[in-house]
Amino acid sequence: MGSLSPLLRAGLSLLILPAVFAAPVAQDPAPVLVHARSPEGRAILLRLQFRKGLSAEGKALPRAFLAAGADPSGWVSFESLSPEGKRWALAALFPEDQWRQEEVRHTVRHPEVESVWTLAALFTGHGQNYDKVMAENPGLPEKLQEGDTWRIPRSLLSADLGGTGHRPDRTQPEDELDDEARVAAYRSLLSFGEDAQGKYAAYRMRKGEALYSSVVIRYTDRVDPRGVNELAERIANRNGIADVRGIQPGQLIKIPLTFLADPFQSEGSSGLAEEREVRAEVRRTVHVEAGPKLKGVRIVIDAGHGGVDSGARANGIWESDFVYDIAMRVRRLLEQETDAQVSSTIRYPGLGFKSREEIRTPSQAAEILTTPPFAVDGESPSAVSVHLRWVLANDLFASFRRTKGDTQKTLFLSFHADSLHPSARGSMIYVPGASLVPTTFGLGSAKTGHVAEAKRSARVAFTGREKLQGEARSRQFSEVLLKALQKDRIPIHPNRPIRNVIYRGGGRWVPAVIRYSTSATKALIEVANLTNEDDAANLKDPDFRERYAAAVVNAIRAYYRK
Ligand SMILES: [Zn+2]
Repeated sequence: MGSLSPLLRAGLSLLILPAVFAAPVAQDPAPVLVHARSPEGRAILLRLQFRKGLSAEGKALPRAFLAAGADPSGWVSFESLSPEGKRWALAALFPEDQWRQEEVRHTVRHPEVESVWTLAALFTGHGQNYDKVMAENPGLPEKLQEGDTWRIPRSLLSADLGGTGHRPDRTQPEDELDDEARVAAYRSLLSFGEDAQGKYAAYRMRKGEALYSSVVIRYTDRVDPRGVNELAERIANRNGIADVRGIQPGQLIKIPLTFLADPFQSEGSSGLAEEREVRAEVRRTVHVEAGPKLKGVRIVIDAGHGGVDSGARANGIWESDFVYDIAMRVRRLLEQETDAQVSSTIRYPGLGFKSREEIRTPSQAAEILTTPPFAVDGESPSAVSVHLRWVLANDLFASFRRTKGDTQKTLFLSFHADSLHPSARGSMIYVPGASLVPTTFGLGSAKTGHVAEAKRSARVAFTGREKLQGEARSRQFSEVLLKALQKDRIPIHPNRPIRNVIYRGGGRWVPAVIRYSTSATKALIEVANLTNEDDAANLKDPDFRERYAAAVVNAIRAYYRK
C-alpha cells in the first residue's frame, strides 16, 4: 500500500516504536569510525552505520576473528566475524560496556547511529529481539541517548557472545493452523465481560507476547504503526497500565468491544454473523480444476504504484520497482511453465516485462496498458491509475468471457509491499471483504482518462451472492498461497496473515483494485513490510524475489488442482 503521509509520520508515538521509524527517509547520519587495535597491535578500522550495523576493515583482521568461509577483502560484516572477533569488536567499539556474569551493561556512545534494533542485532544476534531488549529496560526512552545504560541479560545474549542463543521467539501454538481454525483458536482465548467502563473482551497475555502485536494487531484490524500504537496506548490506559513494556505473562488485558475485528465480536453482533456467513461460503465453495498447465486460466497481474508514485519507502528501498520485479518474475514463470493466458496492467517502458538483478533508483516512467496507454506521470491524479488497473483487468476478463472462457478460471493478483508496524513482518494478503464491496459502482470520465476500456468496463455490479463468492474464493487462494510461502520458508505475517479490510484513521475499506474486480479470485499481496529491516533486506535480494515469484506460481498451480 502507499506510504504514510508526512503528517502521519510526524504523529508517530515514540512510546513503543523502535528507532527504525525515527527518520524513515531522511538522510542517514554519517557512519561512526573507530580506530581499534587487534591483540597483536595491528590497526583495524571499525565502522558503525545507521541501520546497517557494524563492520570491520578486513585486511588487518586476524584469521581467528573471521567466521568460517568469510571473505576478508573490503569491509567484513559483524555477522561474518567469529565469536572471538565479535567479542573483540564490541569491546573495541563500546569500551565503557560492562560484561558481567548475568548481563551486559551497554552504555550508549553513538546515539546518532545506535538504535534498539542495532543493539538487539549486535548483542542478541537478531534485530527482531528489539522488543525483548526494550522489555528488559522499561525505564529507558526508546530513542537512545548518550550515556544511557541498557541491560542485556545473558538469557538474551547470542550464543556467540556466551549467551543461551535466544532465537527470536515469535511462534505461537496457532501458527500451524489454517486461517479459519487459527481465528477460532484466537477467539477461544477471549472471555467476554462488562465493567464500569463498558463491555470488553479479556485476553490473558502469554509468555513472550507484546500488547501491540498479540492484542492490537491480532484482535483488531489495525496494522499501521500509528493506529497500532494509539490503540495500544488506549488499551493500556483502560487497563491502568503505565508502561506497556512492563506487561507480565498472565496479565489480563481488557479490550473494549468496539475495537475488535469482526471474527472476535460478541455473539449476536452483525460483524460476527458476517464472518460466519463467509466461513460457511468458503466451506461450500468447490475448488476449480484446471490441470497442472493451467490451461484455460486467465490471469491478470498488477504491480502497485510506479511512475511518479514510488509507493511505501523505508530502509533504503521503495515499493514500486521491487514489487514490479516480483510481478515480472511471476509473469515469466507463468509464461515459461504454463498454458495460462497472462496479461499485465502496468509496464515500465524502459524495461519492458523484464526482471532485474539489481535495482538502483526508482524508475521514473510507467504506463497502465490501456488503449491508449496511460502514463503514470502525475499529469492526472494518481487515483486515475489505480482505477484504470481494475477497469483494464475487468475489460480483459470480459473479452475472455465473450470468447467462451470459463469465468470461474479468472485470477487477479496485485503486488504491493507495506510500511507497517515492524512486528508485523512478512507477507500479508488482502481479500475483498464481502460487506465492503458495493452493489454497483461506476467511474465518471474524469477518473478514467478517456481510454477505450473505460467505455466498456468502467461500471461494475455485484449480487450479494457474488460478493460472498468473491471473498470465499479469494480466501481459498490466499490459504494456498500462504502454504506455498511457508513451504519455502518465506516469512508471513504473524497473527492474521489474511485480512479482508483495511482500517486506517477511522475508515474501513477494501483496496479498489480488488474491491471492483470482476475476477472470480482476486488478492492484493503485501509481499513484505519495508519497515522491518529483515524484510527490506529480503526484497533487495534478487534470489528472494525469484523464490517469492516461484512460490506464487506454485500456489496458482496448487489452487487449480483438486
Ligand atoms: Zn502499495
